[in-house]
Amino acid sequence: MESGDNKSNRQVQKAHSYSSYERRSVGSPSVIVIGSGFAGIAAARALHDASFQVIVLESRDRIGGRVHTDYSFGFPVDLGASWLHGVCKENPLAPVIGRLGLPLYRTSGDNSVLYDHDLESYALFDMDGNQVPQELVSGVGKTFESILKETELVRQDFSEDMSIQRAISIVFDRRPDLRLEGLGHKVLQWYLCRMEGWFAADADTISLKSWDQEELLPGGHGLMVRGYLPVINTLAKGLDIRLSHRVTKINRRHNGVKVTVEDGRTFVADAAVVTVPLGVLKSNCIKFEPRLPEWKEAAITDLGIGIENKIILHFEKVFWPNVEFLGVVAETSYGCSYFLNLHKATGHAVLVYMPAGKLARDIQKMSDEAAANFAFTQLRKILPNASTPIQFLVSHWGTDRNSLGSYSYDTVGNSHDLYERLRIPVDNLFFAGEATSADYPGSVHGAYSTGLMAAEGCRMRVLERYGELDLFQPVMGELVPVSAPLLISRM
Ligand SMILES: Cc1cc2nc3c(=O)[nH]c(=O)nc-3n(C[C@H](O)[C@H](O)[C@H](O)COP(=O)(O)OP(=O)(O)OC[C@H]3O[C@@H](n4cnc5c(N)ncnc54)[C@H](O)[C@@H]3O)c2cc1C
Repeated sequence: MESGDNKSNRQVQKAHSYSSYERRSVGSPSVIVIGSGFAGIAAARALHDASFQVIVLESRDRIGGRVHTDYSFGFPVDLGASWLHGVCKENPLAPVIGRLGLPLYRTSGDNSVLYDHDLESYALFDMDGNQVPQELVSGVGKTFESILKETELVRQDFSEDMSIQRAISIVFDRRPDLRLEGLGHKVLQWYLCRMEGWFAADADTISLKSWDQEELLPGGHGLMVRGYLPVINTLAKGLDIRLSHRVTKINRRHNGVKVTVEDGRTFVADAAVVTVPLGVLKSNCIKFEPRLPEWKEAAITDLGIGIENKIILHFEKVFWPNVEFLGVVAETSYGCSYFLNLHKATGHAVLVYMPAGKLARDIQKMSDEAAANFAFTQLRKILPNASTPIQFLVSHWGTDRNSLGSYSYDTVGNSHDLYERLRIPVDNLFFAGEATSADYPGSVHGAYSTGLMAAEGCRMRVLERYGELDLFQPVMGELVPVSAPLLISRM
């Protein structure tokens, strides 16, 4: 499928690639998968196992995309995804995680998007370092749920969409009894800040009509104690993955695709599966020839992409309370923040600061050192005797040209159908990735499922043309038999 490597031979190789592009109707079926995150690897694995010739083109020098387990502390920490949302056998990733015997630490048994941590595992503090009484934390949690319930009425009453923030202010006008003052107000802002973290976006941009359209698998939320990397490494075994191959152009014809990478090399195949992140599609750094249809371009423009980053602080020893989440409450959700205590799950003295939305955008303008200092300053506000971290790591999902955002969300005025529109194939171009999952957007298992769906669509289309449908196995549902239960702990 590759047209050649050597720059001096490029003209000859191009000629070869163009002619093979025209000749795609003979020979065995071939597919180019663009991107080696969970969606790309799922698609490539499935098509490879269904006897397709598959090449994966990946711009980074590593696989995994927004799954990035770092080992520089001497143990694994995830700079991207770290939870399995839906710790249950229905989760499409359960077979491979179970088979590998990877432990999960369940942080919450709740299936809602608001509580990926159980309430009793929070310790919230005000800016003076005073701990908020636990009854107040739980009480305000209940008020927040009531407010969200009331926003459903606002949704019914207004035909126009609006932001979650505006809906909450309408609820306060209608139900002044739900307004909170003083510390209660600050704790409420903290809940809002957590919700903004789930969507990686500010409440004034999240759609009232669509924010709760995603589905949640049962079983609660479990941290991948040893990181996500072993999962993707296992799925990627034996695949032909070309690292440091940044795709710049995708040509499609009725009988094949030609994909060009940054240094001018071209690759041809019967079809392609595009799994690059929504932020990359938005940036137009990949040229589609002919242009994608208008409805597809509109979906790319209109679907939102949020930002959440991680600032991971490694300490000599633990000096904080034995809870899963340390929160800082403030007057506004922007001023609130939180730290995940990884010591509970992994035994290592690590806190993970996770800013989202505008706060994340402001912090990503800083140097890594300044960002780590910022997180540490927040920690010092609540724990004045905090010792200085010995190491730190900072993610850059919003500015990294390979992601240009953390994950997708529904913006005001746009329909949740955009996810589906992003997924629908255009001729022999298939689309996968978290932003094409209407049911499970912004998740690893969502990305994985869309990779399998794209593979199946691709198999059907290519093989129909070959007239050999029965010779190849269906790609879905037969990847790895469920052979081992998930190992779930809470230390
Ligand atoms: C901070 C953070 C925390 C998260 N936490 C969780 C969590 O706890 N649980 C959860 O389920 N999900 C979480 N997510 C979301 C999850 O990580 C993603 O939904 C999922 O990993 C996306 O997979 P993907 O295959 O769609 O995209 P990606 O993993 O981004 O893969 C796309 C690939 O395309 C490559 N690429 C980009 N441009 C090009 C190009 N021009 N040519 C070739 N290749 C290119 C990229 O390098 C990348 O490898 C989190 C995400 C972030 C950023």
